Amino acid sequence: MRVEVINTGTELLLGNVLNTHLQFLAEALFPLGLRIARQVTVPDGEVICEALAEAAARAEIVLITGGLGPTTDDLTREIVSAWLGLELVHDREIMDAIEARFARRAMRISPRNQRQAQRPREAVVLWNHHGTAPGLYFPPMEKSGREKSPHIFLLPGPPRELKPMFTDSVLPILAKVLPPRPAFALSTFRIAGLGESGVEELVGEPLLALGLEVGYCARPGEVDLRLIGGAGELARAEAIVVEKLGANLVTRDGRELEKVVVDLLTARGETLAVAESCTGGLIAHRVTNVPGASAVFMQGFVTYANDAKTRALAVPAALIREHGAVSAEVAAAMAEGARAAAGTDHALATTGIAGPGGGSAAKPVGTVFIALATKLGSTTVERHRYQHERKTFKNLTAQTALDLLRRRLA
Ligand code: ATP
Ligand code: MG
Repeated sequence: MRVEVINTGTELLLGNVLNTHLQFLAEALFPLGLRIARQVTVPDGEVICEALAEAAARAEIVLITGGLGPTTDDLTREIVSAWLGLELVHDREIMDAIEARFARRAMRISPRNQRQAQRPREAVVLWNHHGTAPGLYFPPMEKSGREKSPHIFLLPGPPRELKPMFTDSVLPILAKVLPPRPAFALSTFRIAGLGESGVEELVGEPLLALGLEVGYCARPGEVDLRLIGGAGELARAEAIVVEKLGANLVTRDGRELEKVVVDLLTARGETLAVAESCTGGLIAHRVTNVPGASAVFMQGFVTYANDAKTRALAVPAALIREHGAVSAEVAAAMAEGARAAAGTDHALATTGIAGPGGGSAAKPVGTVFIALATKLGSTTVERHRYQHERKTFKNLTAQTALDLLRRRLA
């Protein structure tokens, strides 16, 4: 069955409010085997009618969000009813529920709220336990001699009202009207250390051969591999992904890299410190975003100046003079200094040239050294070059540093 979504609201098109309904609805529909084929956002007003006519010509299910409120810009109920040729009548039961809600909160009801108790007899009420406006469901019906209308659902704009209404009232209706279908599911694998074409080279063919739908989503320093298909095929696919991607596979359950690192450290009962120059605290920030980080993260040093590296991390001034602050030697000394100062099992360090100035022939802009000092063995230093603006440079460096530790721990 083809599903289309119409989000209404001028504020969505002015950029004041982010359309979060689309993401919620897409995720909630997926387990039913439904995918949104098309979505459109329209301002409040008569244009909703045009969008509905277009969607109804293509789709069997149309979800319309927003515009059920009591104000003059809330017209969805009226427009959809008129399009179907249905008359609105006052519903005593809805009015009672609205009045009870206002009474419970000791709030004065406005005559405008009367409008929210209007509905066509043919529509099914979707009760709203988190707001005043009920939703409405219009089952397919003859529309002036033409083909049958689609299943149409009107849902309230506020996310805290729409979400429970969708789960409690819309899903049970959809479960009844949907034809039986073979079960299928979604798997997402997170990968670091390879670009999306590198991932595809390794696993693309065998996964497609299983008849799975395969998708790739690349972000700085990581790639998500998305597979959709039957449970049996997904299990076989997982075995292929694990074998071919090896240590590049970060998670099979959507956890973020920093969460994987914190989980690994927690499981091992080990601790971490970081010494950051060019990442300016970003690694510490990401690690401390993870609930429970305090069990493993001890200290972060943001040592931007040479003098700070010497004072806080005991990096010898002579070493900096000899090799430069951006060097493998200094990165290693920073990591070892941080590990000693914080008394941790592991320490990561970063030092690089974010640019746009400061590069040289031997160390051009974008050069970065990442070091890991660890009780597991000798200190490792990696040299990379990320030719991006400063924020992406920092993101990539933090990502690679965390991944260096993850690989060592895994
Ligand atoms: P109300 O009774 O509050 O007027 P309504 O059903 O008329 O509800 P709208 O007026 O369209 O809904 O939107 C109400 C609020 O819900 C808006 O302030 C908006 O911030 C939020 N909202 C509406 N649509 C969306 C959306 N697609 N994604 C996220 N928030 C939304
Ligand atoms: Mg409104």
